[in-house]
Amino acid sequence: MSLTAPVTDLLAPAGGADGTLRLFVAGEWREAADGAVFTSVDPATGRPWATVAEAGPQDVDLAVAAARAAVDGGPWSRVAPADRARLLWRIAELVDANREALAEIESRDNGKAIRETRAEIANVVRCYEYFSGVCQAQRGSTLPDAGPQFVYTRREPVGVVGAITPWNSPLVMLAWKLCPTLAGGNALVLKPAELTSISALAFAGLLQQTDLPAGVVSVLPGKGRRAGAAIVEHPGVNKVSFTGSTEVGQGIAATASKTLKLVTFELGGKSPNVVFADADLDQAVNRSAFGIFSAAGQSCQAASRMLVERSIKDEFVARLVAKAESIRIGNPLDPATQMGSQVSAKQRETIERYVALGREQVGEPLTGGRRPELDGEAADGFFYTPTIFEVDDSAPRVYREEIFGPVTCVIPFEDEADAIAKANDTEYGLSGAVWTGDVRRAHRVSAALRCGMVWVNTYRTWNPLVPFGGYKQSGYGRENGIEVMEHYTQTKSVWVDMQESQPDWYGD
Ligand code: NAP
Ligand code: MG
Repeated sequence: MSLTAPVTDLLAPAGGADGTLRLFVAGEWREAADGAVFTSVDPATGRPWATVAEAGPQDVDLAVAAARAAVDGGPWSRVAPADRARLLWRIAELVDANREALAEIESRDNGKAIRETRAEIANVVRCYEYFSGVCQAQRGSTLPDAGPQFVYTRREPVGVVGAITPWNSPLVMLAWKLCPTLAGGNALVLKPAELTSISALAFAGLLQQTDLPAGVVSVLPGKGRRAGAAIVEHPGVNKVSFTGSTEVGQGIAATASKTLKLVTFELGGKSPNVVFADADLDQAVNRSAFGIFSAAGQSCQAASRMLVERSIKDEFVARLVAKAESIRIGNPLDPATQMGSQVSAKQRETIERYVALGREQVGEPLTGGRRPELDGEAADGFFYTPTIFEVDDSAPRVYREEIFGPVTCVIPFEDEADAIAKANDTEYGLSGAVWTGDVRRAHRVSAALRCGMVWVNTYRTWNPLVPFGGYKQSGYGRENGIEVMEHYTQTKSVWVDMQESQPDWYGD
């Protein structure tokens, strides 16, 4: 597969003399300080498609210093909210103008079907547009009863944000962190996932076509344990915004506590999709299938636990299996493809380990559980079939643990109370869904689910206006919505004395 001209053009700024894609630091393209590079693999072919500079601690130092200079009285700190708004709108326009090439890069780096990455880029555009408005919508408050002083609060930037992003939706995850960063007047140092850093470099090339001052955004491809850890440890970073596994999140929380950084975490999930007997079954099956099998199951919100009322369980299962078997798996760049590959050989091995465990503990899956053939032949890429297990109780590990692949478990429930108890029986709390024709039940169950997001009669919808984030071990803090600004700004209280003279505390 060769690159289309728009992709080549988009990556031209990042490309060094030998074609290696370089780091974007302090407004410039640089090799890594120690010259390290790594290879990015196209997971649909299993073959390398790009060589990328690998950032280390020295590069992080440079990026943080440039970010600090920009926010600590530098040019960025003097850019008015109205001008930040224009800048965010300009970014939206540039992403939109290059949407096809950006979608192609995402599909190539991640293996996700282009129909999905196109939709993602459209969401990225909406995200920058929405936060353009947020730039001027933030306000402090006045506190009239504070006494003889007039007191007001200001929302101020937190400073330098370190963003560490996963590989499942690279430019979306970047937008969720960069939009509030810029809207709040902060600077960002990004460490994208090693598996999928190329779209962030293409995006940095677009930033160069804006008025963004140098150093406000740096993009440092590299490894979590090296560049990622250096960002988390760096005393010049004020906040870490992390999306990824719960395990890595726990380590980051511990390290960040040493310098008392602010942190927001968007971690794993094992989301319950609760289907009552009075639901519209066609809608429920179609959207539930999307809930688990979109992104080839590599989504923190994946509908990986299907809780179905016993009286309709067999019917639901039969239809879900048929739906799963109808999904067209293939070349992610083909618009007809409905499901691409997993992101890496390692991720597919993880899925295969879980499926083997499922076979031991639960029995043969109802469908899937294997690598697909494409055009009648074994594929080189890291493809996997949509897989459905049926379980009787909540003990099996395939039912309890996040797999991050196209694998779901169906479990029956008896009544509303049983459904709620089963849904909440998890250490995670990111999202959940309830399917029912009874509006009262829809609200009751939505209120009872212990998670940050609930869908009623749909699954996996998104809008930048709506807060996104989890309860329990799915993380803390919220992304998107005006609420995210609480995590990217801090409050300063200003006391102004209004008295002609103040009593002398030490007088008579
Ligand atoms: P991960 O290890 O948590 O990776 C997420 C990001 O954190 C990557 O950029 C990674 O860098 C970085 N990282 C890793 N170790 C770090 C450290 N010690 N300090 C700072 N940064 C560090 O996730 P993964 O290995 O890609 O995937 C493993 C599992 O995580 C998945 O199976 C899934 O369960 C979960 N996951 C969740 C989400 C989500 O949206 N919530 C997204 C992706 C994965 P590298 O480039 O070195 O990986
Ligand atoms: Mg990792």
